[in-house]
Amino acid sequence: MSDAALDLLRRIFGHPGFRGEQAQIVEHVTGGGDALVLMPTGGGKSLCYQLPALLRTGCGLVVSPLIALMQNQVEALRQLGVRAAFLNSTLDAAGAAEVERQLLAGELDLLYVAPERLLTARFLSLLDRAHAGAGIALFAIDEAHCVSQWGHDFRPEYRQLTVLHERWPDIPRIALTATADAPTRREIAERLALEDAQQFVSSFDRPNIRYRVVHKDGGSRQLQDFLARHRGESGIVYAFSRKRVDSTAEQLQAAGFDALPYHAGMDAAARAANQRRFLQEDGVVMVATIAFGMGIDKPDVRFVAHIDLPKSIEGYYQETGRAGRDGEPAEAWLSYGLGDVVNLRQLINQGEAGEERKQLELRKLDALLGYCESTQCRRQALLGWFGEPHAGACGNCDNCLEPPQSWDGTQAARKALSCVYRTGQRFGAGHLIDVLRGVATDKVRQYGHDGLSTWAIGNDLDERQWRGVFRQLVAGGLLEADVERHGALRLTAISAPVLRGERELRFRNEQPRPPRGRKTRTG
Ligand code: ADP
Ligand code: ZN
Repeated sequence: MSDAALDLLRRIFGHPGFRGEQAQIVEHVTGGGDALVLMPTGGGKSLCYQLPALLRTGCGLVVSPLIALMQNQVEALRQLGVRAAFLNSTLDAAGAAEVERQLLAGELDLLYVAPERLLTARFLSLLDRAHAGAGIALFAIDEAHCVSQWGHDFRPEYRQLTVLHERWPDIPRIALTATADAPTRREIAERLALEDAQQFVSSFDRPNIRYRVVHKDGGSRQLQDFLARHRGESGIVYAFSRKRVDSTAEQLQAAGFDALPYHAGMDAAARAANQRRFLQEDGVVMVATIAFGMGIDKPDVRFVAHIDLPKSIEGYYQETGRAGRDGEPAEAWLSYGLGDVVNLRQLINQGEAGEERKQLELRKLDALLGYCESTQCRRQALLGWFGEPHAGACGNCDNCLEPPQSWDGTQAARKALSCVYRTGQRFGAGHLIDVLRGVATDKVRQYGHDGLSTWAIGNDLDERQWRGVFRQLVAGGLLEADVERHGALRLTAISAPVLRGERELRFRNEQPRPPRGRKTRTG
């Protein structure tokens, strides 16, 4: 059996051997077993259902939520001589009818279907006929985390996919995902009735990716310095909003980089043209929102830079996973500042989501902030989030390469919190720092803050160090941004012990100021 699989792997796909757990997964599913597969992006999930579909009698059905991804896969399979097709809303009635005919006639090895189409009564009865006739080799449920209500890609139709098991219990099912921490994994198994399926959990480590987190130091200079180290290489710069994408792409173009924008607000043709250039040419920097990237298989992406804070560690890991698929060194670079935290908190709080969901999103954001401020090995922290133990000291992240110094921030934190309190919990970090450092701005005078007990008690630290203190206080949940008053900081339930000097705090030292550093207020 394994010989047949290896033979197909070489003959059709042109790969000399299996990677990771592919061989075991293929064997298990080909033998009729159910499987839940967790593999990082680029790990080679597709083969885990494509080969069993070819080895078993009948057509393999692949549920996929992404139309673009479906089409790419089918295209690639056809070029290899595999009889593949897809059914989704892009086909007209005649096209769909032809695919259905092929399915019933046993002329297909693999059929990709959007979940909403699969679940129609009409399609289910078509499957009955296929099952009774040419046969159904397996059901593959791709991007299985879409079943999780708490994930970022929730698709309600995924919940109904248990119908496959109920109607055709003898057909093996394989669910695959690249994003699943332990709770999500349990949820997938439960929601898809895969509790008894064998789980194949690959290591999510991407040893060739170097992780770095820097604090925003104002303007576009910092990004350009980073990109200058990657001149001529292909990479992705992720930004928070369409506006940021456009302005950043323009700045980079003006600075001589081959940068292109990509976001959902652009017209489809321009977007497709930019994507094509990125895929086909070398050295294009794609500046994009997270609308870009799913299903993009470009092996030599040398860096992924986030110039704004992503929403969660899962999202971050998936986005950075697009770097270095070829196994060569690549860099994941994240710059963030207090402003990001304020923006994201605000966005979550003002969103339409219910209270429970908001709380969850806020917790995810906090976990990401914890990651950013951590002095621990980044790889250990990331993998730990996915429940994978790692010994640390990876030697390929900023914290391992340049171990951060930390300092006793207990007094500084007390001063900062007390300044927040004395000024009425109504001001942002910039003004608070002016008060602490005794900078007599108009605003300070207007509010009479030069008469407060916290006036000028923080001259021992410079502005940059104070920025770090406030950022880390927010990251640690000791201060929170007031949604109603843009960015105003206020105390939280856990601030009191610090304010009273009962809790000691350590902060990481601020990174050295880069040579060209300017005094700015980016936060
Ligand atoms: P995923 O879906 O897990 O992100 P893919 O199935 O798209 O990953 O595979 C990622 C890349 O790895 C593809 O370019 C694929 O051709 C390649 N690949 C997969 N399995 C193997 C293998 N056994 N040997 C060599 N290359 C492989
Ligand atoms: Zn490390």
